[in-house]
Amino acid sequence: MADLVVHQFPCLQDNYAFLVHDPESRLTALVDTPEVEAIERALASRGWRLTHIFNTHHHFDHTGGNLLLKERYGCTIVGFEDDRHRLPGLDVGVREGDVVELGNARFEVFETPGHTLGHIAYFCREALVAFVGDTLFALGCGRLFEGSPHQMWQSLQKISAWPNETRIYCAHEYTEANAAFALTVEADNPDLQARVTDIKALRAQGRPTVPTLLELEKRTNPFLRAEVSSLQQAVNRVGSSPVEVFAEIRKRKDNF
Ligand code: ZN
Ligand code: FE
Repeated sequence: MADLVVHQFPCLQDNYAFLVHDPESRLTALVDTPEVEAIERALASRGWRLTHIFNTHHHFDHTGGNLLLKERYGCTIVGFEDDRHRLPGLDVGVREGDVVELGNARFEVFETPGHTLGHIAYFCREALVAFVGDTLFALGCGRLFEGSPHQMWQSLQKISAWPNETRIYCAHEYTEANAAFALTVEADNPDLQARVTDIKALRAQGRPTVPTLLELEKRTNPFLRAEVSSLQQAVNRVGSSPVEVFAEIRKRKDNF
């Protein structure tokens, strides 16, 4: 929907939560529930009534407010069916290819295992808006707590296949630290250099670097560039498979 409104606000240490509002139906979805107090303030500031929760994965900084919010608003909680046992209050279980409706807006569900095995992303093709939780970050990707490098690479490939103009809403403000790491991987990437300058300026003013654009991530995010020959050269992995290159970069980041 062209007129879908996204209200983004910080929660906890470095999380973001997102209210997604369809003005016509006046339905409002919250993507993940890190901090009830901040969420209720955001709802009040907009005058919106919470009708849905879309969970991306089970971690506490994404589901901690589920039960209290459900009790207060009677909202419908959507999440990955196979994670029903660890998504508090789940009402509607979804899988790859399912469509979640919010008024006239349609969100396609993508299974994106890697960070957790039950991670999903929500993509609204008409609005070119996507909520990717802890799968893709600005200049980074989620840590592999449960999945394999192969799974995470496949998940990132799914996201890469969306239109370049897609606005990517990631669940954490990790960008400045990710930028420092990205420069150790691809110091000679001019797009990355320019972007790091922009990021530092934004953060110095306390401004968010989220959402990001998929096209920008493809040019600068090392985790999306495992099959780019200049990156393979930079990590001495020419001729390796993209999964091997991705695994190498992820390992370096874990030790960074
Ligand atoms: Zn997480
Ligand atoms: Fe998280």
